[in-house]
Amino acid sequence: MPRPKRSETEGFLTITTVARRLGVQPQMLRSRIGSGALPPATNETPSRVMLFDEAWVEAARQALTDGAPVRRRRAASRVPSPASFLGYPLGTAGKVPGWGEIVAYFEALAAASDRVTVEALGSSTQGRPMIAVAVSAAENLTGPARERNRELLGRLWDPRDRAETELAEAIARARSVAVILATQHANEIGAALMTMELAHLLATGDDPETREVLSRTITLLIPSGNPDGIDIYGEWYGRWLGTEYEGCDLPWLYHPYVGHDNNRDWFMLTQVENQHFAAMHNREHPQLVFDMHQMGRDGARFMVPPFIDPLDPNQDPVIQQGFAAIGT
Ligand SMILES: [Zn+2]
Repeated sequence: MPRPKRSETEGFLTITTVARRLGVQPQMLRSRIGSGALPPATNETPSRVMLFDEAWVEAARQALTDGAPVRRRRAASRVPSPASFLGYPLGTAGKVPGWGEIVAYFEALAAASDRVTVEALGSSTQGRPMIAVAVSAAENLTGPARERNRELLGRLWDPRDRAETELAEAIARARSVAVILATQHANEIGAALMTMELAHLLATGDDPETREVLSRTITLLIPSGNPDGIDIYGEWYGRWLGTEYEGCDLPWLYHPYVGHDNNRDWFMLTQVENQHFAAMHNREHPQLVFDMHQMGRDGARFMVPPFIDPLDPNQDPVIQQGFAAIGT
């Protein structure tokens, strides 16, 4: 494609700039504009280069983050693995996908597998899409099935004024919901990458154990509780890759406002990412919430129960027993 002349693009944004701002791949924008899922470009040069203005970026951001669950289906297509999608196996030295690539992978997985949907939770502080990836048997993932499950689990969440039969029905029929929150701390990238592998494993596994997990459980993967940080840290890592400073610490915050303390915000919920998570949590009524972190090259690696008294008196003892039973 010929490069547009400067005078033609003056005052407009190119698709690469817009894609970077939205935290997605240019190709994804092209295909969604083509399919009508996003509005047409604001302008086009005589050589057919698409151009955009701020209003378009805002409209696209709304469409990408605040719309109904994003669902794509193509039954016969091959289910991509993270390695085939990215071009390298996860964990390859020197290779870290950006947030746009991570989201694009899950979109591709959802397009290829009826066991996966990508659900928009809202925008991050800097406007990147925050997503939940739902993985379950196809019949558990239809809109009505998801809504029905929320209603059933909601009965158990607040059983007051409920008849015993209503509660028994909920216990018998509801699918349990397991939420895995990955990489809230953006320099702990392992968990985000793990969610890509786990989603692929569950989307492709055909053994009885996988089928049982899929039929009985809705797994909600949150690939990152801080999408901005994935790119802030990734950019910094990439800047020094191959130099003597490779792997050096980021000198500024990797969450725009609260940095590493984003996981000390759960009782105040001052940050939009945590507000999105809390809204999802209170909508889905999960039975299991797994908040994944990662330790550095030295120091403690594992923290296991029993935890030291005093335990938070606001937590139900059943929750403490749950920690002890699961082992984290
Ligand atoms: Zn952490």
